[in-house]
Amino acid sequence: ATLPYDSDNIFARILRGEIPARKVYEDEHALAFHDINPAAPVHILVIPKGAYVSWDDFSARATDDEIAGFIRAVGHIAREHDLVAPGYRLLANVGGHAGQEVPHLHVHLFGGRPLGPMLA
Ligand code: 5GP
Repeated sequence: ATLPYDSDNIFARILRGEIPARKVYEDEHALAFHDINPAAPVHILVIPKGAYVSWDDFSARATDDEIAGFIRAVGHIAREHDLVAPGYRLLANVGGHAGQEVPHLHVHLFGGRPLGPMLA
């Protein structure tokens, strides 16, 4: 991990139930909720329950069970929202060049309209 995990970050607080979120899915390994500032008609954030700063930290330190559970949850949420036929986009910002704002791994799930080119 480039950064130490800060257990007071906003998504850690959502996981602990200290601040509200519009949850769409929860299981042993993952929690998903609507982004507070949506960039598309569907803009869901999927986070692992474990304390991982980023995709880098998660892929290096998480157990195979956590990784499998998290990735299956992302796919499940996309199917549950009928996004597979129209299509959707997954994105994870890692660190400064990507503009990562919240230091708890989150995968953005975008859909509900044609999303245009990747880097506009
Ligand atoms: P990043 O730039 O780190 O990849 O994405 C952070 C995302 O978290 C942004 O899209 C932002 O709108 C969202 N966000 C920040 N704070 C909150 C919050 O308190 N609740 C929710 N639901 N989303 C948040």
